Amino acid sequence: MKAVFLGPPGAGKGTVAAKAKDYYKVPHISTGDLFRYNIKNETELGKQVKEILASGGLVPDNITIEMVRRRIAEPDCKNGFILDGFPRTIPQAEALAEMTELDHVLNLAISTEEVVERLSGRRMCPSTGRIYHIKFNPPKVDGVDDETGEALIQRDDDKEEAIKHRLDVYNAQTEPLIDYYRKKGLIREVKTDNSKKPEEVFELVVKALA
Ligand code: AMP
Repeated sequence: MKAVFLGPPGAGKGTVAAKAKDYYKVPHISTGDLFRYNIKNETELGKQVKEILASGGLVPDNITIEMVRRRIAEPDCKNGFILDGFPRTIPQAEALAEMTELDHVLNLAISTEEVVERLSGRRMCPSTGRIYHIKFNPPKVDGVDDETGEALIQRDDDKEEAIKHRLDVYNAQTEPLIDYYRKKGLIREVKTDNSKKPEEVFELVVKALA
């Protein structure tokens, strides 16, 4: 199973991919998570990309492509992978096509209004990365993680200005990938919205990829 999960920021790619990784027994590779890991650990790469992530812009293609090239060459990707958040530009998709052949590209479609509601209410536990939503998935006690009791934070790029920027970037640079992959016959479409539970969306994804 070599799959790419496409969709605007906040569509739920990460949530679906986390379930899909257990179901299909392949690693879930999120370029956003890889960048955040590097920022948290203050690596050279982390220092290079910190400001870019905070603003909601895209990390340059050459840096992102090299990071993915190295990651999918690791032994755990022998039987495939789920890429979440990559590719995000046509040059990234072209570079990926030279590295490997994909089986599926899932397009997780959702309206812009629902995305804004999702992203602006998203909160995260700073040490575990556990995700909550103030309306759709609130913690047991307001503002703190259910297990560690730490104060939840809002990702810099989930703040209003950055959300707007991320959506503009998505529309300009990433949405064209839907057509790019449709022409290759790889697109499998699943429509989602804020009334659907993650389990329901996941069921639709399994059907779409069958
Ligand atoms: P995500 O967690 O997928 O929303 O990604 C968070 C941020 O990481 C994005 O807003 C970008 O700044 C950066 N990023 C993640 N994936 C890519 C990519 N494929 N190309 C460029 N930048 C990326």
